Amino acid sequence: MGQLAELNWLNRFLSETPGDEEVGGVSRQVPGVCWSRVLPTPAPNPKLRLWSSEVSDYLGLERGGAEVLAGGKPVEGMDTYAQRYGGHQFGNWAGQLGDGRAITLGEVDTGTNVWELQLKGSGQTPYSRHSDGKAVLRSSIREFLCSEAMYHLGVPTTRALSLVTTGEKVMRDMLYDGNKQLEPGAVVCRVAPSFIRLGSFQIHAMMGDKNTLDSIVEHTLKHHFPDCNFDEDGIIKWARIVAKTTADMIAHWMRVGFVHGVMNTDNMSIHGLTIDYGPYGWLEDYNPGWTPNTTDAGRRRYRYGSQPQIGAWNIARFLEAISPLVENTDRLTEVLEFYISSYEDSINQIWADKLGFSEFEPDDAILISELNELLQKVETDMTIFFRELGKVQEPNVDNLKFAFYDEESIPIDEWNAWLAKWWERVESNPNREMMMKTNPKYVLRNWMAQLAIDAAEKEDYSVCESLYNLLKSPYEEQVEFEKEWYQKRPEWARHRVGCSMLSCSS
Ligand code: AMP
Ligand code: MG
Repeated sequence: MGQLAELNWLNRFLSETPGDEEVGGVSRQVPGVCWSRVLPTPAPNPKLRLWSSEVSDYLGLERGGAEVLAGGKPVEGMDTYAQRYGGHQFGNWAGQLGDGRAITLGEVDTGTNVWELQLKGSGQTPYSRHSDGKAVLRSSIREFLCSEAMYHLGVPTTRALSLVTTGEKVMRDMLYDGNKQLEPGAVVCRVAPSFIRLGSFQIHAMMGDKNTLDSIVEHTLKHHFPDCNFDEDGIIKWARIVAKTTADMIAHWMRVGFVHGVMNTDNMSIHGLTIDYGPYGWLEDYNPGWTPNTTDAGRRRYRYGSQPQIGAWNIARFLEAISPLVENTDRLTEVLEFYISSYEDSINQIWADKLGFSEFEPDDAILISELNELLQKVETDMTIFFRELGKVQEPNVDNLKFAFYDEESIPIDEWNAWLAKWWERVESNPNREMMMKTNPKYVLRNWMAQLAIDAAEKEDYSVCESLYNLLKSPYEEQVEFEKEWYQKRPEWARHRVGCSMLSCSS
């Protein structure tokens, strides 16, 4: 265990891909490069507020270093930069985006793994466009708690090491409705094998810059997909891994009721990790049409039920981006088909596990689609429903009442008919152990995160800490916390900003 300066820092991305000659500088187009060197902005009064000892253990890092983790002077070995990438935002090509409020400190070689450490909210970069490159406390808490909670749920994700408040106020228009307010600033240090995104490849393909595309593909394969050679076979093999890991990640989102909210191609990791926690949310009532993101309220492109298809759309854009490296493009079409079949395989197994059969059979599709319809008939809590289903001793909806918002309106006969079919399917003996491992008891519901934020904004981090601990064991009963956290959405949260409505403003 050591301090930041004692870790073994690498800078492979900088040495192996083309970069900007200018350091820092104003917001601008930077053609032909994968990165720009930039120094983070020091914080006036950094205070370490949240720390993941699991992540720091992986890194061999002692607790501390608030100043550096808030953007202060980088330690020796760090070579700090912002990545350049592009992306399709809400279905439209948006050109150059890049790390506008993220700055990579470097990569840490632990001897067994290499992790990229990145600050989110530590100031402007050439990719900040018209913004300040800062982040506010509420969105930083949401990222820290949710990425750690997702990890413990078994959903592939980037991790969070630390959350530091900066002591600075940041001006934000939370709902983009003209109501600007000063909010406390914060910086999260997040950790992943890399923060390379689908958009990291798109930008060079869209600009017709084959040399830079070659260079970032070669770098990515060498370090992150070492079983894939830099030739056509290797690239197809890699694309299949990207398709499969993306499909699996989205299947897990569907399993736990997670809605990402901004599945733009710049927010999709090349590693199939959940990345860029912004206006995400968790289903409370089971509504496939729901999205927490008010910016997307009109079309609801990124609603819960569309996530698998959007994943396919994003993978198609990625395959287009790497197509200059592949002669036989039919092979890319096959990768897209492979995404679709991988997703189907994953989600079918997930349904089997959620419902406690050992294996999915084609006929189960009917039972599952009937369940999907029933869950939408009246307001029904997704998390509680599946958790309680794993406990029922007889197929009667009376045992599941807690999952419904209004007990009077439960369509009792329809539910009992469905439960009888399910009971028969599981031969009166569902695989309860599997159900309990698949259907979490505790997820970071938006109102839970909001309570943690409300307290933290008054300098009280105890709710953050309690949730952080609770969500480290989301499949455990933890009965002592039931009353507080194993609950349907309270009425106050139904229309409150931050609970049912979020925007990209962070
Ligand atoms: P997002 O959809 O939140 O991932 O952001 C889209 C783009 O806007 C990315 O290039 C971000 O880096 C950039 N961006 C978002 N918020 C800020 C901010 N506060 N300052 C500078 N750039 C930002
Ligand atoms: Mg982003």
